[in-house]
Amino acid sequence: MMMETPANGRPPGPRDDPWDMALQQFHLAAEHLRLKRGVREVLSHPQREFKVNFPVEMDDGSVRVFAGYRVLHSTVLGPTKGGLRYSPLVRISEVRALAMWMTWKCALTHLPYGGAKGGVACDPSLLSSGELERLTRRYATELAPLSGDRRDIPAPDVGTNAQVMAWFMDTYSMHHGFSVPSVVTGKPVSIGGSAGRQEATGRGVMITAREAAEVRGIAFVGSRVAVQGFGNVGSTAAHLMHAAGCRIVAVSDVRGGIYSPGGLDPAAVRRHIDATGSIEGFPGADAVSNAELLEVPCEFLVPAAIEGQITGANASRIRAQVIVEGANGPTTPDADRILDDRGILVVPDVVANAGGVIVSYFEWVQDLQSYFWSEEEINAHLERLMVHTFRRVLAFSREQHVSLRTGALIFAVKRVSDALLTRGVYP
Ligand code: NAD
Repeated sequence: MMMETPANGRPPGPRDDPWDMALQQFHLAAEHLRLKRGVREVLSHPQREFKVNFPVEMDDGSVRVFAGYRVLHSTVLGPTKGGLRYSPLVRISEVRALAMWMTWKCALTHLPYGGAKGGVACDPSLLSSGELERLTRRYATELAPLSGDRRDIPAPDVGTNAQVMAWFMDTYSMHHGFSVPSVVTGKPVSIGGSAGRQEATGRGVMITAREAAEVRGIAFVGSRVAVQGFGNVGSTAAHLMHAAGCRIVAVSDVRGGIYSPGGLDPAAVRRHIDATGSIEGFPGADAVSNAELLEVPCEFLVPAAIEGQITGANASRIRAQVIVEGANGPTTPDADRILDDRGILVVPDVVANAGGVIVSYFEWVQDLQSYFWSEEEINAHLERLMVHTFRRVLAFSREQHVSLRTGALIFAVKRVSDALLTRGVYP
């Protein structure tokens, strides 16, 4: 199997381990809250971890065994919510961290969910559609003891999409003998998905960037934007920021990126990818590596690929004024300290990319009620919640003299720990 290299071009070091990062961030918030030891202990462990090794018949008749995971970090505030990732880099430490970050994101945005995440170690670009479908259906079957619209509700993440969610939902429904659209979100609209879900995360990134521009006194129109990862989140953010008048100076995918100080048209980049299968070779732009893209001069840097990209090794060379974290965990704690010292504003993942889970929540509510809202209604509710969350975190962080990340986590951890203490320790 082809292995992807990390986008910043170097293997992750121990300090960049995602679970270690998530714990460091959590303990910082726990210190501020003077959280009781027992509560701290509970929240620094995932509640449930599931590892499965399952066979898939490949197109050539051979059988391969894949490793899949699902981690439920906390069910204190409700059923768990979080994406499914298909990537060669999937490992337990990554899934654990992503599950914990989902707990904080849901708590911060007042959604009635705990956090979860799942993944299969595979390279979906090397699988046929039939292989991907069989892998998804078998993985969904392996997760059956956990899944359910009142238990654990997956959504798309890196390497998965609405079609994967449709196979997951269909498999679950076949086993139950009736259709259960609410068991996943991010489905196609034709089978109970929500208008606006596909664009929701990128739309939220655009909204928080616009809010951050106001705070920083940056003219949003004409501002320069570099986007790492031109997938669902990154490409939507690029399209919407371009439509809002920003200049998209650089974009990338897993293979590398392009840079054009005069600005790129994201729609033309999309057409080029559709025609050639890659961002590489886009006419009129210079080739850059993913590592170089992070360091181009711009007002907004939007990491929208994977975690651990902005580290202690490159944070001093970042030239953006604001980092808007479309990805989960793109900035390590070492880098956070450097960026803070340099006065670079970091809009953390739990705020910047919350649009996805917010509209997933809208989708779940619509499915449970079998009553669907218009795209205008969805986008208006999303806008209101994103702006409210950003401003609340900003005000609280200023009051506490902490970064937006620590402020957001203090807020979220407090909500979860209060609920934990109210519910008590069973038995
Ligand atoms: P995607 O699979 O649609 O796109 C991922 C992009 O990143 C692609 O361009 C891919 O080529 C690139 N990429 C993948 N691996 C890479 C690597 N090792 N180095 C550099 N680039 C790489 O995924 P997505 O759904 O857009 O998710 C991107 C990020 O946003 C992830 O961190 C995910 O957890 C986060 N996120 C996604 C959602 C959502 O609704 N999809 C919601 C919240 C957060």
